[in-house]
Amino acid sequence: MQCPYCGHHDSKVIDSRSASDGIRRRRQCLSCGSRFTTYERVQPASLFVVKKDGRREEFNRDKLLNGIRKACEKRPLPTGSLDKLASDIEAELYQLGKAEVSSRDIGDLVMAGLKNLDHVAYIRFASVYRKFADITALKQEIDTLVNGVGETARPADQLPLFPQPRAPARRQRRHRR
Ligand SMILES: [Zn+2]
Repeated sequence: MQCPYCGHHDSKVIDSRSASDGIRRRRQCLSCGSRFTTYERVQPASLFVVKKDGRREEFNRDKLLNGIRKACEKRPLPTGSLDKLASDIEAELYQLGKAEVSSRDIGDLVMAGLKNLDHVAYIRFASVYRKFADITALKQEIDTLVNGVGETARPADQLPLFPQPRAPARRQRRHRR
């Protein structure tokens, strides 16, 4: 395990504990003494993704994370939240216990995750992934997010998509055309 600070190849484990998705090891570099953490992840039998055109490719977590990162670019999201979303989706996929999943299934999971995380990122991802037919379809999706369908549409810690009007906005927002 290479030290991220000096590149030395030898380190000793100073702490080891199991996390929900693997084992976490606290290490100390034997050269510069820096401390860093490594994660040992359980990798189940390989999972294949069936793409729209029917081709199959092995599931790639980095690819998933890159897609999420792209959608969340420059959004004020907490450190680690994107990585966590990718891990959650990966875990969910493997828990299905199937040898292959469709790229659509993965896209749906990403959409659901982003919807809870950040509405702007969600719309960005959805506009590429779902290829909204036209601007009206896109507007409908945004309206649904802004007006909320049911109370679960916007978690309390969700960043607002648009600046919120001042009080007594709450009553006005419920007002439907
Ligand atoms: Zn070092």
